[in-house]
Amino acid sequence: MAGLCAAARARELGASPVLLEKGSRPGGSMLLSSGVIWRYRSFDEFRAQCPGGDPRLQELVHGRLDEGLEWLETIGAPVVARETGNPLTTGVRFDPKGLTEALARAAGDVRLGEPVTATDQPLVLATGGFQGDPGLVERFVRPASPLRLRANPWSAGDGLRHGLERGAGLSEGLDEFYGRNMADIDFGEPEFVQLAQVYGRFARIFNDVGKEFVDHNEVSWSEIDLVRATAHQPGARAWYVLDEEALDERMRERTVREVVADAPTRTEPADLPFQAPKGAAVAVRVAAAITHTIGGLRVDAKARVLDEAGMPIDGLYAAGADAGGISTGGYASGLASALVLGRAAAESAAS
Ligand SMILES: Cc1cc2nc3c(=O)[nH]c(=O)nc-3n(C[C@H](O)[C@H](O)[C@H](O)COP(=O)(O)OP(=O)(O)OC[C@H]3O[C@@H](n4cnc5c(N)ncnc54)[C@H](O)[C@@H]3O)c2cc1C
Repeated sequence: MAGLCAAARARELGASPVLLEKGSRPGGSMLLSSGVIWRYRSFDEFRAQCPGGDPRLQELVHGRLDEGLEWLETIGAPVVARETGNPLTTGVRFDPKGLTEALARAAGDVRLGEPVTATDQPLVLATGGFQGDPGLVERFVRPASPLRLRANPWSAGDGLRHGLERGAGLSEGLDEFYGRNMADIDFGEPEFVQLAQVYGRFARIFNDVGKEFVDHNEVSWSEIDLVRATAHQPGARAWYVLDEEALDERMRERTVREVVADAPTRTEPADLPFQAPKGAAVAVRVAAAITHTIGGLRVDAKARVLDEAGMPIDGLYAAGADAGGISTGGYASGLASALVLGRAAAESAAS
């Protein structure tokens, strides 16, 4: 998303940008997403939810998101809903296909199957993070077992590597990622949403050897902390064990019971590899999957990539998941960061 936003904004400002897209289609993970572009209602809430993030970048994303959302509508991105369904947040849900088409139209010169190359022109790195490179994930995130990918297949750290070659510094939170605990089976893009199991906060949570490794009362609303903790358990796997009360909890339109009924790794308590806790009605085996990394290149509030001494590297910008340190310590909308930083990078490069 960030690259399309940067190219579209640069063209609007009178530049003639070229968007190099490594994949066979535009839109990256944005096209696969639910399309909800959001921010916390207050900046204080953003700080409280993501305490390790760079406050200047957070101010930028928080302060410029609403203007970015209006801009998306002006270029023809179709709105599905003007609310997020979460009292902590505000935002807009777009149709991901229509959003991708509108941005690609506005970006103009989109060249598919062409990875980014070194250039003496201003360059915005927007390759979507390093989750698609198991070696980089192993080095920085250090999961107990390889994580399944819940993202486009092309975001494999090319932006990070390019930045490092040019002397870039790294942000905080390189071990952090956004992802979901998924039913523990192999899956592809059509199952990214459907197989996500986002009710761990109602369950008791055990690892494969029967250790209750997280107190469910302390799991955050987004469950990102639970997913990260699961990544460090044997096999990067967990068991959600639910009693009748947990099954009756509601998750927006559906009850937990309805979601569990569709989970292909649903298991009888008697079949667990450890003694089921008292009252257990059903269990679901989940495994941590990675959607995008949270740490990345160090940037300033103009989306300029900074070197290790904190000085801007001439002509080099980063946006989206390539720009690290925005939602460190928690979870915030990756689409929002991509939109705001992408536009900011274009404005800096064009000036
Ligand atoms: C199932 C799912 C649901 C989601 N739902 C939401 C949601 O509702 N709200 C939200 O905020 N976030 C959501 N996300 C996360 C969101 O999609 C990402 O945060 C966002 O797309 C990141 O933007 P980006 O521009 O950094 O990466 P992307 O949108 O993935 O774009 C990166 C692009 O770079 C390309 N690329 C990679 N390497 C190269 C290279 N070397 N040269 C050229 N191009 C390259 C890729 O092919 C890709 O097109 C969801 C993600 C998934 C998978």
